[in-house]
Amino acid sequence: MVNKPTILIIEDEKNIGNYIETIVVSNDYRALRAQSGVTGLTLCASHHPELVLLDLGLPDMDGMEVLKKVRSVSAIPVIVISARTQEREKVAALDAGADDYITKPFGSEELLARIRTALRHSIQTGSASTQELRYSRDGLVIDFERRLVLLNGEDIHLTQIEYRLVSLLAKNAGRVLTYDSILKEIWGPFADTDNQILRVNMANIRRKLEKNPAEPHYIFTEIGVGYRMKE
Ligand code: CA
Repeated sequence: MVNKPTILIIEDEKNIGNYIETIVVSNDYRALRAQSGVTGLTLCASHHPELVLLDLGLPDMDGMEVLKKVRSVSAIPVIVISARTQEREKVAALDAGADDYITKPFGSEELLARIRTALRHSIQTGSASTQELRYSRDGLVIDFERRLVLLNGEDIHLTQIEYRLVSLLAKNAGRVLTYDSILKEIWGPFADTDNQILRVNMANIRRKLEKNPAEPHYIFTEIGVGYRMKE
């Protein structure tokens, strides 16, 4: 028998829980359900799921508390399910160790893509040798070893900072990276920088990579949260 990854769904709204369960089960995952934070934490400890889908609005405790408790004992991927327009909540969840978030209402394709990305990244973190040496998508190739960026076969000249930004996003393709986490990674934890410098650099990158920078094809803005590169 194939060993299906188990996904723990912590969601108090029955309809949404059923909807998610149907999607994951019909795509070869095993589903576990919890309708409260306490049950979720218990199941997480007893069943060691491969991934957690966590609703932030739970009846018995704050979803952020659940996230922090899970993170204090385990590195398993956690995808937060949040309501629309709560950017600050999303950023806080990502900074507290969530791997990604998905905004209600969402479609099955979006959910499955998030799950695949989170599972893939958790496997990669486990073993450095599986790290990919290049990013390749729709004509854009980033060769991490040779530090080369090619667009439709043509060498693209990026500044040092631009290259580091693009390769950081590409190595995390499919995942959203918050403004803060990008700033810390590129300019260091103590650098006196703000989002403006990031926006300027990103605008320059888009001018070089995107056919239409206003409708990006490779690097997407997650408004109020950060950036996500096409998987
Ligand atoms: Ca809820």
